[in-house]
Amino acid sequence: TALAGATFKAKINTTPAASRGYASGVRKVTLIPGDGIGPEISAAVQKIFTAAKVPIEWEAVDVTPVRGPDGKFGIPQAAIDSVNTNKIGLKGPLMTPVGKGHRSLNLALRKEFNLYANVRPCRSLVGYKTLYDDVDVVTIRENTEGEYSGIEHEIVDGVVQSIKLITEDASRRVAEYAFQYAKNNNRKKVTVVHKANIMRMSDGLFLRCVRETAQKYPEIQFEERYLDTVCLNMSRNRAKYDVLVMPNLYGDILSDMCAGLVGGLGLTPSGNMGLNGALFESVHGTAPDIAGKDLANPTALLLSAVMMLRHMELNSYADKIEAAAFAVIAEGKYLTGDLGGKAKCSEFTNEICSKL
Ligand code: NAD
Repeated sequence: TALAGATFKAKINTTPAASRGYASGVRKVTLIPGDGIGPEISAAVQKIFTAAKVPIEWEAVDVTPVRGPDGKFGIPQAAIDSVNTNKIGLKGPLMTPVGKGHRSLNLALRKEFNLYANVRPCRSLVGYKTLYDDVDVVTIRENTEGEYSGIEHEIVDGVVQSIKLITEDASRRVAEYAFQYAKNNNRKKVTVVHKANIMRMSDGLFLRCVRETAQKYPEIQFEERYLDTVCLNMSRNRAKYDVLVMPNLYGDILSDMCAGLVGGLGLTPSGNMGLNGALFESVHGTAPDIAGKDLANPTALLLSAVMMLRHMELNSYADKIEAAAFAVIAEGKYLTGDLGGKAKCSEFTNEICSKL
C-alpha cells in the first residue's frame, strides 16, 4: 500500500539547535546555487521559503575554485568562512570536470567541512506512481574515504592503482551516526551493507566497527548483509530494510537505486552531516540537457531544504512546505517533465506557493 502522508521527518542532528550555534531569531544559511539547473531550482526554493515566511536569511556564495597562495586551485575563502560561521548550508548540484588534473568540487567540499555521513531518506510518494509504492528506507553512507579517497597513481604505463582507504575512526563515526539516527527517528533496524567476504581487511574493518557500535544500541535490531544480496532483495521485498549504513562507493550506488525506486533523482533529498556543520543537497546532478529552460524539477532540492529546516528545528515550516509540495505532486496537474507532466519549474513552484 502507498505510504499515506509520507514525510521526511528526519531529525538529523541529536544536538539541540541552540548548542549548534543558531539559537534564535533570523538565522543565516549559506546557499551554494550550483551549476546547470542549480540556479533555477535554488531560486524556486528561495521563492517557496519566502512565501512560507521561513525565518532565515540566505547568504549566497560562489564556490568556483580560485588559485590560492600555493598556486593550487581551491574553494574561495569567503565560501569556506560562510559555511564555518553559519554551520548550515543548502547546495545545488556542481559540475564535475572530467579528466586528469581536475578534482571534484563536491569531493573538495566534503573534505573541507569533514562531511562524514551522507543521509538519504527514500520514501514512496502518495499520488506519484512508481513500480513499487512501499519504499521507506534511509541510506547512510560514509562520505569521506573508501574508493573515493582520491589516492590514485600510475605504477607503470598502462597500470593504475587506486587505493580504497578505510579507517577505524571514520567507520565508527558513521556507525554511531546511523544508530543515533535510527534511535531519534523511531527506526527499528540498522543493516550494515558490505563485501567483507571479498574485501576482507577493508570492509572487514568497517563491519567490525559497525558491529561493535551496534552493541551499544540493544534496542535497535542489527543485521549484516552483502551488497549484492541487498540489491537483489530491494527488487523483491523492500520491507526487509529500514536504515542501511555502508562504505562510500556502495552508498553512492545503492542510494541512487533507492532513489530510482521512489521516482528518480528529481525527488530525492540528502543531508551531509559534518563535524562542524551540515550541507543539504539534492541527489541529482546539474542536468545540462535541460539547464536554463525552466524545465527542472525543484522537488529534490526543496525536500533537502525541508530536511535542513528540521535539522534547525524549524519543524512547523518544514511540515508546511513539505505538505504543499506533496499535495501538488499528488494532484498531478502541475508535474514537471521528469515526472511525466508538462509543467515548467516556475509553474510547479507557483503552485506550491499557492498552497502555503
Ligand atoms: P544528472 O543528475 O545531472 O542528470 C541525469 C538525468 O536526470 C538527465 O536527463 C537530467 O535532465 C535529469 N535530471 C536530473 N535532475 C533533474 C531535475 N531536478 N529535474 C528534472 N530532470 C532532472 O546526471 P549527469 O548528467 O550524470 O551529471 C551532470 C553533471 O552533474 C556532471 O558534471 C556530474 O559530475 C554532476 N553531478 C553533480 C552532483 C552534485 O553536485 N551533487 C551529483 C551528480 C552529478
